[in-house]
Amino acid sequence: MPELPEVETVVRGLREPLVGHTLLEVWYDREAMIRTPAPAEFAARIAGQKVTGITRRAKYIVIQLEHDLLTVHLKMTGRLYVSDADYQDDADRWVRVKFKLDGGKELRFSDARRFGRVALSDQLEAITGSLGPEPLEDDFTADILRERLQGHRRIIKALLLDQTFVAGVGNIYADEALHRAKIHPLRPASTLTDAEIMALHATIRAALADGVEREGASINWYRKADGGKGSAQDQLYVYGRTGEPCLTCGHPIEKIRVAQRGTHFCPVCQPAVTT
Ligand SMILES: [Zn+2]
Repeated sequence: MPELPEVETVVRGLREPLVGHTLLEVWYDREAMIRTPAPAEFAARIAGQKVTGITRRAKYIVIQLEHDLLTVHLKMTGRLYVSDADYQDDADRWVRVKFKLDGGKELRFSDARRFGRVALSDQLEAITGSLGPEPLEDDFTADILRERLQGHRRIIKALLLDQTFVAGVGNIYADEALHRAKIHPLRPASTLTDAEIMALHATIRAALADGVEREGASINWYRKADGGKGSAQDQLYVYGRTGEPCLTCGHPIEKIRVAQRGTHFCPVCQPAVTT
């Protein structure tokens, strides 16, 4: 699933082709793709609104319209891009929602597995629910992380995946941040030492910032808005490297299940118990 770096890259790639254009009408293949409001109201409200900006919150793409926020969640297989209206649908047979733009182009949401959704509201939180802090913002400090970890008995990997704890981190970057901080993914959050919390704060930010700089990890379905691939997948320490040597110590990377997710770590660099 696209995480913060992948969604951020899509957002950056959509600014130039999208901002300043007006949404003329919407087409969707199934009503279920529209999360809120009811599809008829969604279509009526969208028509004629100009795109004034585009940002990201957690894993949501947030398209700012004159009177509303149009959000897209890519989930597993979603892609969002602007294309010519005559671009053949058979080149992408998973287009589920199309927005006709002034100037003759279309904003297209493609989603093979149909887990993604578009939504419209004048209140972002009505769509996203409560979310944790943005980890790349200045106000996400080590003190804030320490405060939020206090009293949590949940295991650290599960907590990092929880969007109400910290926004935008998913399976890839949680594994990468824990490895860089030398923390075992099954450690109860409340057992992290002060030094480990400081390290984890730094590595969450570093892993995500590296991902943004490399324009995301094109594992499975993720593509940039222009259809190209990111290169973050070439620089991962543990994610997807089961059985391959740890880049630090050479021990084979192991994979276990944590919070229903495949979790990659080095048992030497990330020991289960601190001494
Ligand atoms: Zn190692």
